[in-house]
Amino acid sequence: MKLIGLIGGMSWQSTADYYKLINEMVWQKLGGQHSARILLYSVDFEPLQQAQHEGRWDDTARMLAEAALALKRGGADFLVLCTNTMHKVADAVEQAADLPLLHIADAAGEAIKAKGLERVALLGTRFTMEDDFYRGRLQERFGLMVLIPPEPDRLDVHHIIYDELCHGEVKDASRRRYVEIISELAQAGAEGVILGCTEIPMLIKPPDVPIPIFDTTHLHAEAAVRRALA
Ligand code: GLU
Repeated sequence: MKLIGLIGGMSWQSTADYYKLINEMVWQKLGGQHSARILLYSVDFEPLQQAQHEGRWDDTARMLAEAALALKRGGADFLVLCTNTMHKVADAVEQAADLPLLHIADAAGEAIKAKGLERVALLGTRFTMEDDFYRGRLQERFGLMVLIPPEPDRLDVHHIIYDELCHGEVKDASRRRYVEIISELAQAGAEGVILGCTEIPMLIKPPDVPIPIFDTTHLHAEAAVRRALA
């Protein structure tokens, strides 16, 4: 079994889910007392999220490259960056460590294609919804049409992630707001919705919404296990 290098802590709430999911999936495949071989580098999220919100993306890349190098020195075979947003600097991190990085948007894109969908909504941080690194990859590599909510809704989605979910707070009012936003995107033609932030699956489950969900935490963990056991 390959050694999985997790770069986590963004936030630690969702990294804990990755840890649990990856171990459960390895056990489902191998049985016995099998569990995953994992090396985890969990960052302090505060300086990182400050740099994000100030647009200092080179600084974020430097912080994550340091983590990636430490994982490489520890013997990791490949990298899993446990956040959608920070894939904005995934190429720089991958190059700095000279280790393959399992891209989260590819895990989502493959699952959407496997279901035969072409038009999907994307929810995540403002950076993930608005910048091109995520939507562009889904469009170019998988031919998907990606819908995002209008600006006031994007702000709500963003603030609920950082102010509540990253602290483990799951509120009914926020769930209702997300369901409302997703339902509007479904009416606008979205055939499915990408939960493109690794904390959103804490809030939204498949029965909550009228269209299929693509849980990036789950899909990314699944891709990591496939690779570890290949
Ligand atoms: N975990 C989140 C994501 O998947 C947001 C936190 C971050 O900014 O990395 O995008």
